[in-house]
Amino acid sequence: MPSEQRSDPPASILVIAAHPDDVDFGSAGTIASWTDAGASVSYCIVTSGEAGGSDRSVSRAEMVTIRQAEQTAAAKQVGVHDLRFLGYPDGRVEPTLALRRDLARAIRQLRPERVVCPSPERNYARMGVGHPDHRAVGSAALDAVYPDARNPFAFPELLAEEDLEPWAVREVWISGGIAPNHYVDVTDTFARKIAALRSHASQISDPDGLERRLRGWLASTAATAGLPEGSLAEAFQVLQTG
Ligand SMILES: [Zn+2]
Repeated sequence: MPSEQRSDPPASILVIAAHPDDVDFGSAGTIASWTDAGASVSYCIVTSGEAGGSDRSVSRAEMVTIRQAEQTAAAKQVGVHDLRFLGYPDGRVEPTLALRRDLARAIRQLRPERVVCPSPERNYARMGVGHPDHRAVGSAALDAVYPDARNPFAFPELLAEEDLEPWAVREVWISGGIAPNHYVDVTDTFARKIAALRSHASQISDPDGLERRLRGWLASTAATAGLPEGSLAEAFQVLQTG
């Protein structure tokens, strides 16, 4: 499918991710184009990434603070200023009812037309993309979109105790999935995606090498999308939720 884009994004978009930096690897170039076009984008990050990094002298509590600050700085690079961290334990996320309720709460609070989330499917070609936390968050996010956030009888306490009316998200963009059907040209926003990624200093030992690798991945995605030579693209599976 050819890349579309340049169509106006909806006013409100919620990006759900498992760890700090996931958003920046998968979709920061696309997000920059949305905020440039005036969309309000929020991040809901399920863990604080305390299992990341290789420096054993840094306490895990300290790592929570570091990674939240890094993600906040990364978000600014692409025009995102609303972040919420749910505080689930990094490396041990499961698609529980509690996580579905917490994501449904965020959806009802923010009332986004579009949700971006990781894929619940394992990607055999790219092990890192299918991290168990990513799959768990992808599964819970899709369940939160349908049916939890839109059904007044799902998690009735959200309505009864928090006054959160049901909300139907119309469109989901799965990042890192195995069946992309939509490509966004991020050639113009790549520099900001890299700036966002470089904000995750605790996780990156070779930023220049990372930039080279990313340029290669995004160029090959652009080639798959049929974009002109020299283009860079991010891939998504876009679903209409009915
Ligand atoms: Zn991750």
